[in-house]
Amino acid sequence: MSKIWVFVELAKEEVSPISLEVMTGARGLGGELEAVVLNPQARLVTETLGEFGATTVYLGTDEAYGTHVAQPHAAVLASLVEQHRPDLLIFGATYDGRDICGHLSAQLGSTVVANATGISTAAGGFSVCSSIFGATLNVTTEVRGPTPCVLVRPKSYQAVGFGGPPPRLVEVSLPAGSPLGARRLESVVAPTSGPKLEEARVVISGGRGLQEPSNFALLDQLASQLQGAVGASRAVVDAGWVPYARQVGQTGKTVKPDLYIACGISGAMQHTVGMKSAGHIVAINRDRDAPIFKLSDLGIVGDVLKVLPALIEELRARGLEPQ
Ligand SMILES: Cc1cc2nc3c(=O)[nH]c(=O)nc-3n(C[C@H](O)[C@H](O)[C@H](O)COP(=O)(O)OP(=O)(O)OC[C@H]3O[C@@H](n4cnc5c(N)ncnc54)[C@H](O)[C@@H]3O)c2cc1C
Repeated sequence: MSKIWVFVELAKEEVSPISLEVMTGARGLGGELEAVVLNPQARLVTETLGEFGATTVYLGTDEAYGTHVAQPHAAVLASLVEQHRPDLLIFGATYDGRDICGHLSAQLGSTVVANATGISTAAGGFSVCSSIFGATLNVTTEVRGPTPCVLVRPKSYQAVGFGGPPPRLVEVSLPAGSPLGARRLESVVAPTSGPKLEEARVVISGGRGLQEPSNFALLDQLASQLQGAVGASRAVVDAGWVPYARQVGQTGKTVKPDLYIACGISGAMQHTVGMKSAGHIVAINRDRDAPIFKLSDLGIVGDVLKVLPALIEELRARGLEPQ
């Protein structure tokens, strides 16, 4: 039976959503699932990891995992991998996941497949589906040992626990002399209101078609009526209209809401890769040939600055007031 490891990250003292997604995907591979969590708060999440299928959790709680970037994590992972030789090591494609995976593969000389959207078993190894060349091409790569690493994009799997029993815990300590070159000086959490973009059931995104930054107020209003979150295309993020935290797409966030409303967004591949798995897609664009219409369930050809106020008014007439 193959041994599959997942590197687990925490968010606010809980397992981060992407780690739960990756655990769910890894469980579907049918091998023995084990987790590695290196965080001063690691003890808080071991039960959840059992519920998601981990039979063993390797946990390190050294303060360095919270204060330093990548190097201590990669050092301890390298020694664990050499000791236990898992058949596959999966990371979520987060900033930390990418950093740590890069350091680790350089140390171990192991294969890395980035941007994965799915993993399955194959003869003698694993088959990884990933998106390359600015999300214009999907490729399937077969990876074999020793311990290939895969970085999985957010929302590639839906996180589902199955009520597994508490896992066996194995405490690991940071090897003496581990490199501690990059220290985290400050963490800033951007102030937000309403649901988080990655978790919202409704996302309303705006692009250059909104004409000017102040028109994002229409999106805020609609989001408030629908209890959704506001996203954006890179064009308007680059123009400084909205913060980067709102960017949806290849170099921004991946979202999978029940409803995605694209307002004045052309539908470039680099944008759609971050939202094409939404349950329902509505697009408002004045160009009937805009590529976004190819993947929308409902397309409205018109001026977004006229359609949005009409939509807001209609929802208000149906009793949906801004919160
Ligand atoms: C390496 C790389 C990574 C990238 N990563 C991302 C990413 O993560 N996310 C992302 O979004 N992009 C990304 N891009 C950029 C992407 O290629 C597009 O340039 C960008 O998505 C375009 O943004 P837009 O649709 O807002 O602007 P535009 O392409 O300028 O489209 C504006 C749209 O608004 C419509 N419009 C204009 N006025 C109105 C109106 N009054 N009413 C209705 N419709 C109107 C137009 O018809 C047009 O379709 C990336 C590019 C590269 C090269």
